[in-house]
Amino acid sequence: MTMEKTLILSSGKCSWGKCYACGWGKLEAPVDTDRLKARVESTSLLGVTKLKVFASGSFLDDKQFPRAFRQWFAGYIGQSRVKELVIESRPEYITQESLSDFKGIRLTVAIGLECADDKVLRAYHKGFTVAQWLKAVKLLRKNKIGVRTYVMVNIPFGNAKALNKTVALAIRESNSVVLINTFPHAKASLFDFWIVGRWKPLDKGQFEAMVSRWAKNKKIEVDYQNYAFVPKIPKERQEFIRGVGLSCLDHSHYNVWQDYFVRFYEKPIDKDIALFLPCSFRKPYAGSRTHVEIYEAIKEAKVFPRLHRIVLSSPGVIPFEFSDYYPFNSYDWPEWLETDKVKRDYIRFVKARVKEYLKTHKYKRYLCYFKYSAETYIALKEACRELKIPLKNLLDEKVYNQIKDEKNPLIQESALINIKKNLNRMS
Ligand code: SF4
Repeated sequence: MTMEKTLILSSGKCSWGKCYACGWGKLEAPVDTDRLKARVESTSLLGVTKLKVFASGSFLDDKQFPRAFRQWFAGYIGQSRVKELVIESRPEYITQESLSDFKGIRLTVAIGLECADDKVLRAYHKGFTVAQWLKAVKLLRKNKIGVRTYVMVNIPFGNAKALNKTVALAIRESNSVVLINTFPHAKASLFDFWIVGRWKPLDKGQFEAMVSRWAKNKKIEVDYQNYAFVPKIPKERQEFIRGVGLSCLDHSHYNVWQDYFVRFYEKPIDKDIALFLPCSFRKPYAGSRTHVEIYEAIKEAKVFPRLHRIVLSSPGVIPFEFSDYYPFNSYDWPEWLETDKVKRDYIRFVKARVKEYLKTHKYKRYLCYFKYSAETYIALKEACRELKIPLKNLLDEKVYNQIKDEKNPLIQESALINIKKNLNRMS
């Protein structure tokens, strides 16, 4: 039986670092042979028969992994019970000399071909051609070394025809082929493509539909998502989004996140009651007086652990666990600047985003705590009505009418008693 293990070794930096979707290639670590050896020696290989080394770059690049370390590593693995070693490299480092250090080891070299089309590779900034990949593959075969090829599904600048051509060639030339869904790393240029709406990652259903025709091929492996992906917008592109109107509502950073919440996000499984809440001036919301008071009023309710708090605001739908992420902690919508048109646009955007969210994410119950006059409440109510979802406002209209002229009615004592009572009635 094969027992597989992955060893992540960070050393130096990918010599290329320019691939369009890759952020790992921009990371840099010290090149320290002693540290690398200690990392390897402290990794238990008990029972491991197949070891994969991931290095964000090229294991065969002397600048990233000094040859003396590789030779030591090959000896170390040779003396272990590991039967197969898989390493990664760009084609230019696959030479007779670099391969000679692994004599006696069953070796596989994985190469990120991504797409077998030179035009796409050029636009993608891959930095090598299909012919260069083929030359490396030929050398590996001559040395009886396994070839593993990574192919990117939904690569920017590519298309279905290029994918078909790539997979056919990769199957022909490789021992194994991994079809990888393309996601943009935070520091990658592809992220900008998504932000400006020129490219979108595939969700699970779309990806599976695209790769299903190869699913039965024994050489093929599919990889829908190989890291915990969230659209973390890099610091240098972040801004404070202040103002009212369409330019704020339709902000590209909000759009990318709303796309994520609808197509990729999975709500916590234990939270089966949605509780929609208003935003607050203070960010993150959890530190605001409004949210502290609401939390104090609801935290003892029997159903509290099942409540999924979701804030509705100008960015759209914000599951509470994301409230400290940019842009949800970096915006302000000054209500006093709102005109009638701005209010209408706000209702339209929030309603559309709530609808999209609720079409994907189902709850057993749908609750909210809003002022009856709030545009957000109007948007939520309309979205639920159109989706035929029963919505309950935990602030009774009668109570609201008594306090509506107070400053911040939602944290008036009678309102908080009201939400507490209404929640306590639920089982
Ligand atoms: S994909 Fe590989 S070769 Fe390209 S930048 Fe990233 S680590 Fe380097």
